[in-house]
Amino acid sequence: MKTRARALLGLVMWGLLLLLSIPLAGAAQSAETVSAHFILTAPAPGVPDLDYWANLCEQALARLSRQFPESFDTDRKIRVFVSPDMADFRSRSGLQVESVMAVAYPGRDYIILNTETMANASAFEQYQTLGHELVHLLLGRLDQERVPQWLHEGLAQIIPQQSHPTRTLALAWAQILNRCIPMRRLNYRFPYDTSQADLAYAQSASFTQYVATKVYSFPTTQDFFDALLTRPNDMDAILRDLDNPKKLDHFEAEWMRRSDKILNWILAITSTSLIWGLTVLFFVFAYLHKRHKEKDVMEDWDPWERN
Ligand SMILES: [Zn+2]
Repeated sequence: MKTRARALLGLVMWGLLLLLSIPLAGAAQSAETVSAHFILTAPAPGVPDLDYWANLCEQALARLSRQFPESFDTDRKIRVFVSPDMADFRSRSGLQVESVMAVAYPGRDYIILNTETMANASAFEQYQTLGHELVHLLLGRLDQERVPQWLHEGLAQIIPQQSHPTRTLALAWAQILNRCIPMRRLNYRFPYDTSQADLAYAQSASFTQYVATKVYSFPTTQDFFDALLTRPNDMDAILRDLDNPKKLDHFEAEWMRRSDKILNWILAITSTSLIWGLTVLFFVFAYLHKRHKEKDVMEDWDPWERN
């Protein structure tokens, strides 16, 4: 009897909960916009402007389609969640870093945009960020062995031609101080804290370009990416190479040696220009000093000469 009463009570409670959840679900109205290649969703209608983001997504995709015609299926719609603020972005992505503008989930054809951080960027930077995330999705569509994280991030920066002077500077310093992150550590994970992230991104871009054009002799990194998308079977051996720790270490050592050479060359040019610059400055100073002295002497003479 007691058990039956408890079961009845439980049933009543579930019923109540169900009744309560119906109006709640109705109140949380999300907004959706469907464009040619994207389905954009926001937690509430109005803010952010889904049409604006749909247009930017379409433009970023159109640019990639122009660069790599017939290399990927644009019929499959991509889902984009447009977060209106940092709190929403954090809860959905699990990322706690403020500087992250967007995150892509390659296997799922899904992107989450952080429009609060995006609002501080120019429209061009927003467009490049979308290009970056789309490259991640295209790599995720490959019916292939795993693409290492550094290659993902390297291509996602190079293909939409993203340039970050602070990242380049971080890499130059790390090379001078011999503090680069071992590439093996960027195989599966990527740092999100800004101090290491700048370096990790710059290293990935530089190493990707080196591997594509110097190790595997593709004319450009774009050709390497195109081959990955259009001839994935031919790229099998390359991806296997990159997955081999010994080979990766060897490529990394070569890349470091090459970067050292370039760095020494830059340093040599800078120091030569510095020496020339200082020499010119010295002569200019000596000349001005001499003129100043002559003027003093002339002024001393003046009273006599004037007469
Ligand atoms: Zn990325």
